[in-house]
Amino acid sequence: MSENVRVRFAPSPTGPLHMGGVRTALYNYLFAKKHNGTFVLRIEDTDQTRYVANAEQYIIDALEWCNIPFDEGPGKNEKFGPYRQSERKDLYKQYAEELLAKGWAYYAFDTPEGLDALRKEHEAEGKTFIYNWHNRAKGKLVNSLVLSEEEVQEKINAGEKYVVRFKTPQDETLILQDEVRGTIKIDTNTLDDKVLFKSDGMPTYHLANIVDDHLMQISHVIRGEEWLPSLPLHTLLYQAFGWEAPKFAHLSLILKPVGKGKLSKRDGDKLGFPVFPLEYTNEKTGDVSRGYKEDGYFSDAFINMLALLGWNPGTEQELFSLEELIEAFDLARVSKSGAKFSPDKTKWFNQQYLQQKSEEELTDLFLPILESNGVTSNTDFVQKVVSLIKERAVFVQDFWELSNFFFQDPTEYDAKASKKQWKETTPALMEELVTIIEGIEDFSVENAQNDIKGWITSKEIGFGKVMQPLRLSLVGKLAGPDLFEIMNMIGKEATITRIKNAIANLG
Ligand code: GLU
Repeated sequence: MSENVRVRFAPSPTGPLHMGGVRTALYNYLFAKKHNGTFVLRIEDTDQTRYVANAEQYIIDALEWCNIPFDEGPGKNEKFGPYRQSERKDLYKQYAEELLAKGWAYYAFDTPEGLDALRKEHEAEGKTFIYNWHNRAKGKLVNSLVLSEEEVQEKINAGEKYVVRFKTPQDETLILQDEVRGTIKIDTNTLDDKVLFKSDGMPTYHLANIVDDHLMQISHVIRGEEWLPSLPLHTLLYQAFGWEAPKFAHLSLILKPVGKGKLSKRDGDKLGFPVFPLEYTNEKTGDVSRGYKEDGYFSDAFINMLALLGWNPGTEQELFSLEELIEAFDLARVSKSGAKFSPDKTKWFNQQYLQQKSEEELTDLFLPILESNGVTSNTDFVQKVVSLIKERAVFVQDFWELSNFFFQDPTEYDAKASKKQWKETTPALMEELVTIIEGIEDFSVENAQNDIKGWITSKEIGFGKVMQPLRLSLVGKLAGPDLFEIMNMIGKEATITRIKNAIANLG
């Protein structure tokens, strides 16, 4: 791509960023990095009624956690700033005026009640009211297409509320190009004359979005499919201003894991998975929503999963580092249809990433968990434990459950397993085993294994008869890694104590 790639993520700070929003940001990021371009964060906060104070920081923190930081945005490389639309508010009026002067827009003074009445009138006749070429100049509506210039000026001077509407051209077929969806044809007669600017001095999303994309020299607009209906208007706005339009790519929805439709916050609550990257506290209600981070997901696993939710590399490869994603990403391979989210697959990704992490890193993450369980242990020991148990873990927080017996003697024994494995003959066998263990000079994994297995073989009994009760004694249940490894880790003395404890407890 020879042009200078500049993309933007343009969220409205109305609440926490849903994982669909994170995916949009991610695809923008990958596309920018792939083409040595710039990833811009713009905060679209023109709708003050929906503004949520902690949302912007949440968005920034979420991008940070996901390791997909923006290159330009609020407080960072403000070359094209400010990047908050509320701070750019004085800039939009002149553009609305330009369109008015060029005849691409008009003033409309219709009151909400007046429009409501018209809507009802149409409904009564089984029609839908659309503010556009059908009726905009027919006298029922109060706008500068029917009023004289003087009348318009009088109304404005008198402080009457107005909006500026786009004058959608009539009888045209728009041929739109979308990088994901291909060619889309639209009859302009089906479009309504959208509001661009309001008398409170605020632009609407459409005007601010187009003006900013132009001023910030955005080359590609990559956004969610919910904005596809705005594409005709946006394309026309570029025409009206005489600006070159960026390329557009609309991403399909993320779908519920079961059933049909868009993945919603409620699906997460219902099915028990987070839909937000970070935990979020609603400032008004105090409600807390779960986050992938707090649920114990690695951000790189989460990002890998999201990347493949709506894009495919064209190969069987599933595990991608961020660098590999950047290398492989291509808008042409973004899917036109919705992608079904799978909580299980997300766990699978986490498990895969956990296995790839270094034992040092996992140990660092595990140490505070141990501490919160009242365990202090040396780092080398913990690292060895991690190496023995990690393959059974999906999350670092599974480690404690998988390894507590390395750090403390079992205090109870799984009832079902005890009933099945702890037979009448077991105590005598275990007493004998203690003697064997006492006799092992060098308590290495190999020595213990040789001596104990040799003893079992010489007794001509099944291995299970000894090994299962031994496991119960050391672990408290029939789980855990190799028993000889466990014995070696806890040492000869603790091994003997635990066997004796089990005999005392289980009879
Ligand atoms: N502010 C819009 C949003 O909240 C941006 C849409 C766009 O990217 O054009 O998603």
